[in-house]
Amino acid sequence: MSIRNLLKPYNLTFFIFTLISFLLIKTAVTNSLVIETPLAKPNEREWRQKSNISIPEAKPDPAFFMLAIPTNLEAPKRKPDPKSIYPMATKSLTEMVFKKTNIFISSDDIQRLDLKKNEGIGPLLKRAGFNSKQVYEAVSNITNIVNLNKLPVGLKVDVLSPFGNKAGAFSFKINNEFNIYAILDNKLNWSAFKAFRPVKKETLFITGKIESNLYLSAQEVGLPEDALIEFVQLMGYSIDFQRQIQTGDQFKILFKQSFDVLSEKRIGLEEISYAELNVSDESYKFYRFTDSEGKVGYYDEKGQSARKTLMKTPINGARLSSGFGMRKHPIKGFSAMHKGVDFGAPTGTPIFAAGDGVLEKVGWINGYGRYILIRHNSTYKTAYAHMSGWAKGIRRGLRVYQGQIIGYVGSTGNSTGPHLHYEILINGRQVNPLKVKMPSGKPVNSKDRKTFLRKIQRIKQEITNLNNIN
Ligand SMILES: [Zn+2]
Repeated sequence: MSIRNLLKPYNLTFFIFTLISFLLIKTAVTNSLVIETPLAKPNEREWRQKSNISIPEAKPDPAFFMLAIPTNLEAPKRKPDPKSIYPMATKSLTEMVFKKTNIFISSDDIQRLDLKKNEGIGPLLKRAGFNSKQVYEAVSNITNIVNLNKLPVGLKVDVLSPFGNKAGAFSFKINNEFNIYAILDNKLNWSAFKAFRPVKKETLFITGKIESNLYLSAQEVGLPEDALIEFVQLMGYSIDFQRQIQTGDQFKILFKQSFDVLSEKRIGLEEISYAELNVSDESYKFYRFTDSEGKVGYYDEKGQSARKTLMKTPINGARLSSGFGMRKHPIKGFSAMHKGVDFGAPTGTPIFAAGDGVLEKVGWINGYGRYILIRHNSTYKTAYAHMSGWAKGIRRGLRVYQGQIIGYVGSTGNSTGPHLHYEILINGRQVNPLKVKMPSGKPVNSKDRKTFLRKIQRIKQEITNLNNIN
């Protein structure tokens, strides 16, 4: 019976009739069957063991199957380690080309070009020998990875020009963290990517004795300037770097710094972990500690903060001309005639607000020259004189924070040479900063004490280990 026959009216009726009859009979037969009671569920543990198949683990959390309901809440983002996302940068372009394409290129074929003023990466590639199509494709490939409008003049670009069927490539450094690579393989496809510059961190323990002045002595023992500046600022709360430092005083610093492995250049200071300064009869030891609230501070062994309400040295003290070496003009101490202390430093050296407060006076005062008075609280005020200029935005009534630059060392007013004249006033009267017992900052929280003590032990151990290596 063909389909056409089947579709004829009487055949179709017959066909439908047969189909319905069949379905009715099938239903009747099914319904008449005795439904068996299901067997007891076999003990899975038993037969699993026999069959050696492991029992499936607990069902996954149904929350995983639920529809996501959009909310404003953001899941906490853990910053991924860049090393896991990006490939590692290589020292040379040839190395990267080989890694990605297996094509070996002599380093003689790589040219290093400087990005010229108003040139842009496209024209540079053209200058290096890429054709217009290749340049267009290269630029559109890297434009999503790096802001091409912000490339600095003089940028060093390593280029391999595509002669014949050889691969072409170029690369450059975009910052301390990343290089850009673009490679044209022998099938004429570009691949462009960012690669992570490997950074090495090292911990150093440096000790030194102060000979003629702190700055030179620090240089002699190889203490980097950024570490010295931070060290002085940290100690500047407790010590007058002009009058309390003497020949033979000792400093010790444990710090971390980072290096760029490819260029073998130091990137900079990471952090000071421990700082110690021994002056004639006193010793200052501070440990870096991050408390449970994430606040970083420096504390002595008793947990007292290195940070006091006011600084004894409210100046970038790394380059202070030391008191004992000064010949040109007297570095005055406090006396009946001279009611402040002087810090001899080069013109332009930044001056810090000694503590949080409000600028009560900003102006010129006879004798004092350019002058600032800060009100810290109902008891304490500090004054700064002979400045060469104010920092940007400094005006009367402004609120300043401790360590903020308020002005620069100068020699305005009655002054024999560039220096900062610094006064501390208690209830409106000048007092000798050397004699003032500075109110201390916040100590370590009692709940963090145990962790703090452990941290001290770790730092001490680290110092011992480093001493043993040397
Ligand atoms: Zn003075």
